[in-house]
Amino acid sequence: MSVVSLAEKRLRSVDHLEGEALCTACGHTWQALAPLGTVALECPACHTMKGLYRPGHGLDLRLRL
Ligand SMILES: [Zn+2]
Repeated sequence: MSVVSLAEKRLRSVDHLEGEALCTACGHTWQALAPLGTVALECPACHTMKGLYRPGHGLDLRLRL
């Protein structure tokens, strides 16, 4: 778990989805933050676009209402 300052949290809170991601190519898992609607995530380990959010692993929907 990382600690995020309130100011940083506000900067990052615009329509982003944060959660654990899994690379379907190499199996690497990481904490991903991407704009809402992003389907494929770039894997930081193998740099393919085969990363997917893992449902039920602390997905955090960040919306500015
Ligand atoms: Zn990978």
